[in-house]
Amino acid sequence: MKKIITSLSSALLILVASLSLTNVAKSAEFFTIGTGGPTGVYFQTGNAICKMLHKSAISAEHGRKKGTAKAYRCTAPSTGGSNYNIGQIAAGEFQFGVAQSDWQYHAVNGSSKWEGKQYSDLRAVFSVHNEPFQIWARKKAKVKNFSDLEGKVVNIGNPGSGQRGTMEELMKAMGVDNSFFKSTTELTSSEQVKALCDGKIDAFGYSVGFPNGAMEQAATCAAKASPINLTGPEVQGLIDGADYYAQAVIPKGTYTKQKKDATTFGVKATVVTSADVSEELVYLVVKAVMENFDDFKKQHPAFGFLEKKNMIKDGLSAPLHPGAIKYYKEAGLM
Ligand code: GLU
Repeated sequence: MKKIITSLSSALLILVASLSLTNVAKSAEFFTIGTGGPTGVYFQTGNAICKMLHKSAISAEHGRKKGTAKAYRCTAPSTGGSNYNIGQIAAGEFQFGVAQSDWQYHAVNGSSKWEGKQYSDLRAVFSVHNEPFQIWARKKAKVKNFSDLEGKVVNIGNPGSGQRGTMEELMKAMGVDNSFFKSTTELTSSEQVKALCDGKIDAFGYSVGFPNGAMEQAATCAAKASPINLTGPEVQGLIDGADYYAQAVIPKGTYTKQKKDATTFGVKATVVTSADVSEELVYLVVKAVMENFDDFKKQHPAFGFLEKKNMIKDGLSAPLHPGAIKYYKEAGLM
């Protein structure tokens, strides 16, 4: 008898569980956050945002009457990076994306790569970690500064990535084109470290938050790579000429055998959306991150320095989305 009751009640449990699953599936609205390569920080950023949203959705659903409000579910797939993400937002394929502050600026203003394709409906949500622009070179290539890259095999990044665009801006400032190098490759951020470790390339350019596991691999593999300094009047000119660039330092000891600070210029990682995305959704995303802030910061060591008051202004050149403003005002941040 006891056995029958137990199996009856487990059958009932399964029934209830599957019924409530159908309920969620019916009322949920799915949206996408574009990120970057699977070994970068953007991928972690997008997934951390989804995690915070799902966490607050669960607690909200707890006290909610059945079917009274929409549930949002998000995915944050790996992508080609900043410019790809902004393009997908403009096309209505992604609702959010992570993008470098320089590409946020160019897209909304129709400058640089976005000339003739201005996307004025781009909206800022908040900024996240710093991304120093880094050129990592393998030890044997003996590259100490930008001019040593002459005649080397260099990965300039996949089209669509932020680092590809920023590398091109740096090359422009330095007065060189691809012919300055022996050859160039267009590997993605997750392919470039292996190529460097295997000696297939001498160096790569990458804008990414730190510390970063893939860069530690570059530092410790056979390439014994390290980030070079990017300084001098040309780089200073970039920093002085644009609000979306700033001086940046990767402190010594960040990576194994990194004995000196690497001084360079950098951008901010930012989260962007479209004016077409609803106020409700943007509000909920912002609220989920801001109200689970300590947990959010624990999702990646590059988030350690985040402060709410800076996140709502630094590196943002597109107008803030009204859903974000609503939360920042409500929380007394604005
Ligand atoms: N900054 C890079 C880009 O815009 C991505 C860096 C990352 O994936 O963390 O493409």
